[in-house]
Amino acid sequence: MTEHPNALALIARRMAEQIRPADPMRLSEWLSHNLVLVDGPAAGELWSAEGAPYLTEIADCLGEDHPCNLVTVRKSQQTGASILALGWVLYVAEREPANLLYGVPGIDALRDLNTGKLQPLIDAWQKKIRRTVISPQTSRSGVGSTTYEKVFAGGRVWLANANTVMDLSSKTAKKGVKDELSKWQDIPGFGDPETFFFGRFTAFRRTRNYKILEISTPEIDTGDELGEAEGHCRIDRSFKRSDQRYWNLGCPECGTLFFHRDEHLKIDRAHPHRSTYECQDCGHAISESERVVGVRAGQWLPTAEGPDRHPGFHIDAYISLMMSYGDIAEDRLKSEKSEKARKDYHNLVLGLPYKYRGDAPDHVRLMERREDGLRRGHVPPRGLILVASADVQMRGIWLEIKAYAPNRESWVVEALYLEGETDSPTAPVFQQLRKEALDRQFPDAFGRKRRIDALAVDSGYRSHPP
Ligand SMILES: [Zn+2]
Repeated sequence: MTEHPNALALIARRMAEQIRPADPMRLSEWLSHNLVLVDGPAAGELWSAEGAPYLTEIADCLGEDHPCNLVTVRKSQQTGASILALGWVLYVAEREPANLLYGVPGIDALRDLNTGKLQPLIDAWQKKIRRTVISPQTSRSGVGSTTYEKVFAGGRVWLANANTVMDLSSKTAKKGVKDELSKWQDIPGFGDPETFFFGRFTAFRRTRNYKILEISTPEIDTGDELGEAEGHCRIDRSFKRSDQRYWNLGCPECGTLFFHRDEHLKIDRAHPHRSTYECQDCGHAISESERVVGVRAGQWLPTAEGPDRHPGFHIDAYISLMMSYGDIAEDRLKSEKSEKARKDYHNLVLGLPYKYRGDAPDHVRLMERREDGLRRGHVPPRGLILVASADVQMRGIWLEIKAYAPNRESWVVEALYLEGETDSPTAPVFQQLRKEALDRQFPDAFGRKRRIDALAVDSGYRSHPP
C-alpha cells in the first residue's frame, strides 16, 4: 500500500473544510438555494423570489445582521408569504442557531403546521442537502400536547398553540413567529397570548437582539385610528405602529410611483378579465400585463415616519403574481352579495381589516362572524362534550344544547323554545323537553350518533318540575 506523500496536509485541509464557518448568506439568498417547495404548482423545485419579488426585503429583515427586533407582515391570501416563516425556521437551524418559538392559533393549526407544513419542508430540505440538521421528532410532551419540539445544534424550535396557556414557563426564546396573529384569542383567566408569548423573550430584551416575525391576514377593523381599541385586529394594530411599507409600481405612461387602492380598479362588469387600473396621476388604464412588469420592478416605500417604527409590510392581491386584475374584479363582484363576502374580500384579497357597517342589527353581525361549516343539530369535529341546559318559564321552556372542546371552545348545536304551560309536572311540554334533550340523537362529524352527556334545568320559576 502506497502512502500519501503529504497525508498530514491532506487531513488538515479536509478538517479545515469541515469546520470552516459558512460564508454569510442573506436569508433570501439562502432560501433560493435550500428551500424545496413541497406543494403547489412548483412542488419539488427550489423557492425563488421571482414568483414573489416583494418577499426578498422582508426576508432580509429577519437575518441577525438587520438591526430590527420586530417585522410585521399584514397580508392577503395567495401571496406566497407564508413560506417565509417556515423557511426562516430552517435558516435559523443551520445558520443562526437559537431557540425559536412558533405560535399558531388553535390545536388544529398547530397539528397542520407540524405535520402538514413544517416537517415536509424539513424532510425535503434535508434530503437535498443530504444531512440531518434538525433531529427527527422523538417526543412530544404528552397526549393532547399543546407544544411540539424540534432539536438542532445550538437551539430548539417550539411549535405552540397560542390560544392555550403555553407550557413554556421555563423556556427562553431569542426568535419568534406569531403566525395568523389576528386569530390569537385572549385565554380565559390568563389574558393576552401576545404578552405571554413575549414573556419568553425577557432574557434578550435588555440586549435587544431578539427577533420576532408577525404574519397574518387581518380580521376586524374597530374603526379606531390607532387600532388600540379592544377587539381590533392584532396584525393591523401592529402594522399601524410600523413604518407601513407598500410595494410601489411606476405608471408605464407617466412614471409616477403608486401603490394600489381598490377604488381605482376599473371593473368591466361584463368581462371582468378586461378590467384595468386607473393611474391616479395621468388617468392611464394600466393593463394586467403592465401590472406584472410593474410588480416585478417594484419597490417597498414606507408611508409612516418617526422613531421606534419597525419594518411593517402590506401585501395584497394587487401585488401578487398568483392573482390578476381580472381575478380581483371577479372576487369583488362576488363580494357584493353579502356582508360576510365583503369581509372576506377585504381580509383575503385586499389584506385589510374589515369594518362592519354600523347599521346592521346585532344578530345579523353576530351571524356573519360565526364559523363556517357548522350545521344545526350536528356536533362539530372537536365537540368532545355535549350538554344541554333548560330554563323553565311560565308558558314554555328555553333549551340550549352546546358542544365543548377540551380547551373550552364551544359551539351552540341547538337552541329551542318549547311552548306550553309548565304548571304541572305532567304537562306535555316536559315530555317535549325529554324528547328534544334526553332522547334526541345528534350526528357528529364522524358519522356517529351522540346523546347529551348532561342536562341542567333551571326550575327557579317552577320549583317543582318532574
Ligand atoms: Zn400615470
